[in-house]
Amino acid sequence: MRALVKKEAAKGLWLEDVPQPEPGINDVLIKVRRTAICGTDMHIYNWDDWAQRTIPVPMVVGHEFVGEIVDVGSNVNDFKPGQIVSGEGHVVCGRCRNCMAGRRHLCNDNSGIGVDRPGAFAEYLTLPMSNVWEHAPGIDLDVAALFDPLGNAVHTALQFDLLGEDVLITGAGPIGSMAAAVCRHAGARHIVITDVIDERLALAAKLGATRTVNVANESLVDVQEELGMREGFDVGLEMSGNPQALNDQISHLCHGGKIAMLGIPSENTAIDWSRVIFNMLTLKGIYGREMYETWYKMSVMIQTGLDISPVITHRMPYSDYETGFAAMNDGSASKVVLNWDD
Ligand code: NAD
Ligand code: ZN
Repeated sequence: MRALVKKEAAKGLWLEDVPQPEPGINDVLIKVRRTAICGTDMHIYNWDDWAQRTIPVPMVVGHEFVGEIVDVGSNVNDFKPGQIVSGEGHVVCGRCRNCMAGRRHLCNDNSGIGVDRPGAFAEYLTLPMSNVWEHAPGIDLDVAALFDPLGNAVHTALQFDLLGEDVLITGAGPIGSMAAAVCRHAGARHIVITDVIDERLALAAKLGATRTVNVANESLVDVQEELGMREGFDVGLEMSGNPQALNDQISHLCHGGKIAMLGIPSENTAIDWSRVIFNMLTLKGIYGREMYETWYKMSVMIQTGLDISPVITHRMPYSDYETGFAAMNDGSASKVVLNWDD
């Protein structure tokens, strides 16, 4: 089968012929139909320090996908060929304390598809049945391919009550923009999103942000005044990993405000701890998605009108992957969807 492989410890990906995977007794075999490129794939493509430390080569990469089940192992009763599915990219151990308690997103010993086990940028993928999510009938395949990053957005956005609340999102990348759509769907009032790139902010506005702020040339203090929010934002979603953005969150939340932190900072970040303490702020780190409460919420929100499709800026056949990775690298793309249909 054809697959995008990190063949060597060097920049790039290679379109190769590799053996088709065989499903084990507890696995399903999926014919991949659409995949999407994630920031993690960009780290792997560009072969940065994190990728060099983390990715064994050769490795089939990719983890954002949708496909059709074509075969199931002998222990698998709940899935059958023909079903349209995506998969949770974190394969958990099932035996640690958190897994045993049903908190599988907090597994102590997980592995990642397309990171340290074969990934989804391939014609076929096998997954343990416990990692498979069946989509509701009729879902748009390009949207279904985004359930992994949409899951990050939903998991983060739904940490705290949103109905009637004012939300500050820092970072209008694909995940921040989708989070804006989720906040709108969930009934927030002001959904203010910041970035330093105007095109990204324009996309976030299309998805549902009510006010965009380029923090390179506009002040959040002024925006807060314009919106009549004397006491500050109720909920913050940090989705940039940028140290200044986290400080913006801490400066603009109301007393008792809550910040869910998904963005991964590349360095230690200094913050004004006295504000956290005197204003009784809550800071909560967020990882992955809940298995499978987040997936359930995503499916239902899509069924009830949540539209994240504007986040897809590029669609192309998988063989044009170099164009897709270039568009991600030069910042012109938000989400790139690769089509694997014959
Ligand atoms: P992205 O890099 O595409 O988007 C980040 C955005 O932040 C960019 O548009 C950038 O211009 C913007 N930004 C930079 N400086 C800023 C500033 N000072 N203020 C506001 N915005 C600023 O990333 P993404 O794919 O949308 O993911 C968002 C973040 O979530 C990333 O940090 C990513 O690593 C992280 N992430 C975490 C998890 C997890 O499980 N915790 C999972 C997926 C992604
Ligand atoms: Zn575990």
